[in-house]
Amino acid sequence: MTVDLSPYLGSVPDVVVGRIRAAKRVLAVSHENPDADTVGATLGVVRIVERFGGAADPVCTDPVPELYGFIDGVDRFRTDPAPDAPYDLLVLSDCATPERVGEVGRRHRELFDRLPRVVIDHHASNEALAEADWIEPAAAATCEMVALLAVCLGVPFTSDRGLATALMAGIVMDTATFAHPNATPRTLAVSAALVEAGAPLSDISRRLYRSKPENQLRLFGRVLDRLTSFDGGLVVASTLLGADLAATDTQPPHSEGIIDLLAQAERAEVAILFKEAGDTTRISVRTKPGGVDATVLTGLFGGGGHARAAGATVPLPVDRARDAVLAEARKAAAAVSR
Ligand code: 5GP
Ligand code: MN
Repeated sequence: MTVDLSPYLGSVPDVVVGRIRAAKRVLAVSHENPDADTVGATLGVVRIVERFGGAADPVCTDPVPELYGFIDGVDRFRTDPAPDAPYDLLVLSDCATPERVGEVGRRHRELFDRLPRVVIDHHASNEALAEADWIEPAAAATCEMVALLAVCLGVPFTSDRGLATALMAGIVMDTATFAHPNATPRTLAVSAALVEAGAPLSDISRRLYRSKPENQLRLFGRVLDRLTSFDGGLVVASTLLGADLAATDTQPPHSEGIIDLLAQAERAEVAILFKEAGDTTRISVRTKPGGVDATVLTGLFGGGGHARAAGATVPLPVDRARDAVLAEARKAAAAVSR
């Protein structure tokens, strides 16, 4: 590897390195509604553990969307831990709390509570941190952190092209191919090392951001056409109804990316997408740099994420969720001074 990542290795906690190195059978869990970062990081942890002669099972409570099928090993994801497996370590990637892993955590609460744990995450968290919770809000992606973990453990990216691709996918996903302000010199250095090891950067970027089935484009069209703007454009919102999915023959993961188009509205301090989900409503929020903190807005509704991009599940049907969230969003946007 010609890229020198040694200046960045100090951020990897010894206790995390030690627990991963010693583990014999790891339960590696992603968050619900998985994206490429949680999938890539979880598979990265699995591959690192396997390099040390341990075994590991990747688990996600939801099926992994086909879009991420190009990442080697996605077919290994299970919705539940293997029954009676002698797990000795739980690793949560891209989520800081067992709640965020979704139903699987509730189905196996005793196991999740009992196992020693490592958390690798870049979401700011207000929860009390356990000994091996490694949380770095300044990391662009959890995959950036897992890459540094691999280097600390002496696992070369070149030993395994699947590892480099999985980790690159998470970084491309969470930075929108280095377009978001979360991409730092460290992100670029890690990415350079991954590309050097064979990660197909441009192919990953095209798959994640510039290639869509036609029915998904029709879904985007319907939702974008419904854009509503408030307070002279300071807040923009749209709604994705179950009927839109039916009319375009799409699934909820096909909504990925719509919010980032809404957020292109020139004046919008806050962009919100409301997604009907039965009696509840999923919201995605994006905000402009120096303006509203998206985690504060979504936090009012039990959600979280990052300052510029966050989400929540609001326990109300979509019309009432719209009223409640828009009232708060408009207040927050009005308070921004530029
Ligand atoms: P998206 O809008 O793309 O679904 O999510 C944006 C960001 O917010 C992601 O980093 C995601 O992890 C986080 N996020 C989305 N939904 C939730 C949620 O319900 N709870 C928490 N804590 N974070 C969320
Ligand atoms: Mn992430």
